[in-house]
Amino acid sequence: MNTENTIAAPADAAERQAAKPVICYPVSQLPQPNMGLLEQARQTLAKIDEVIVPPREASTFSVPEGHFARIVSIDGPQVGDLNLWNAKDLSERFFSGKTRQLHATHVTTGHRLWSSMPSLRPMATITHDTLGWYGFDADGGSVHDVIGTRCDPYTNRLLSGDDYHHCCHSNLCNALAVAKGFGFAEAEKYVHDVLNVFMCTGFTKDTHQYFMKASPVRPGDYLEFFAEIDLLGALSACPGGDCSSSHSSDAAACYPLKVEIFRPDMALLGDWPWPKESAYQPPR
Ligand SMILES: [Zn+2]
Repeated sequence: MNTENTIAAPADAAERQAAKPVICYPVSQLPQPNMGLLEQARQTLAKIDEVIVPPREASTFSVPEGHFARIVSIDGPQVGDLNLWNAKDLSERFFSGKTRQLHATHVTTGHRLWSSMPSLRPMATITHDTLGWYGFDADGGSVHDVIGTRCDPYTNRLLSGDDYHHCCHSNLCNALAVAKGFGFAEAEKYVHDVLNVFMCTGFTKDTHQYFMKASPVRPGDYLEFFAEIDLLGALSACPGGDCSSSHSSDAAACYPLKVEIFRPDMALLGDWPWPKESAYQPPR
């Protein structure tokens, strides 16, 4: 731990530290989704599919372009680790780091979930978040983070020396392998950093370490998004349950999650600006 600073501060340290923060990625030029139209489309939703994600497992689901998906808490407080791919090309996948840079550490209604380079386009737009009231708490925590990665068996072994086979990483690999007929190793190439749905996280004020605390999610809560392209999703019901104490073990109470897929009145979306892949071309 690099917590003991033995470096003497220069004479102008206070002046240097007082430089004003500047937003790295100003979004004033970023095309904004027409949330009014999406809200109109939400009023016409008809459910066409439903997937139950068992506790400590993951399941895949498909969301066609222009459809909506809801991740729903059902039996008890439970967080979910979400992966998203372009259903037609798994190399285009959710880019949590860029989503964080363009929006914030935690996402909610109106934010978009961006895809990896070279496409770099919105894969999905968040259209409803029943935990939108939570904001940031006194610990600096909030929900639906794009900071953390997924719990994984490699880090678990590094830190505990134990092997645990139901980390979100493993669950997501297994679910994708089943969906695509891959072996585990092939699936593992496509599993990526997640959106931590319902998870309440932040950085400690003293050591600035990543923390988690009991998720405020309760049965009936949901996070809903609009598919801007054809999506394949995978959701893991994290072995950490509500992530109030531990993960990467069978210790926590764990509950299933439900994914619901809805079709709106597609005529409303006739003029929707479906996002194209980035037009940037590297010089040859
Ligand atoms: Zn997990």
